[in-house]
Amino acid sequence: MADLDEVRTRATELMTRHLSRDWVFRFDTAKTRAGLCNFTKRTISVSQYLAARSTLADVEQTLLHEIAHALAGPDAGHGEVWLVLARSIGYTGSRTHDGAVAREFARWHGECPNGHEVVRFRRPTRPMSCGKCTRRFDRRFLITWRERSPEELAASAAGAARS
Ligand SMILES: [Zn+2]
Ligand SMILES: [Zn+2]
Repeated sequence: MADLDEVRTRATELMTRHLSRDWVFRFDTAKTRAGLCNFTKRTISVSQYLAARSTLADVEQTLLHEIAHALAGPDAGHGEVWLVLARSIGYTGSRTHDGAVAREFARWHGECPNGHEVVRFRRPTRPMSCGKCTRRFDRRFLITWRERSPEELAASAAGAARS
């Protein structure tokens, strides 16, 4: 679990290294995406909820993902330019299948009884137990699924493309 002061310190370090000085870091209160890059306000923000539940290493990946958006510009989306920049500063996640990016686009969000999050692009067809809580199927750790509304999805996808 990352300490929020530590996250802020790390964010400031990374942004000082990679971005011009007018970019500012802040926490936001999003629950379905890990981070956001806002070109208008020139802010990079990280969800305080997700940060508190992630490791510092995960939050750092989110920060690098968003810093790459800031470097690539608003029109780059998750295209090649963004990806090359992201890799060059140490982002190891993919565009669409894990971490911050998946959270931005995945329609299905699941949570186990212990609060671990999973995302899926398609409706899960079989009961699934949490891979972090148990290695084999176990009903005690069943994932509860929630489908995000089209409005929610559009909002986070817009945020992803533009910020
Ligand atoms: Zn779990
Ligand atoms: Zn993104």
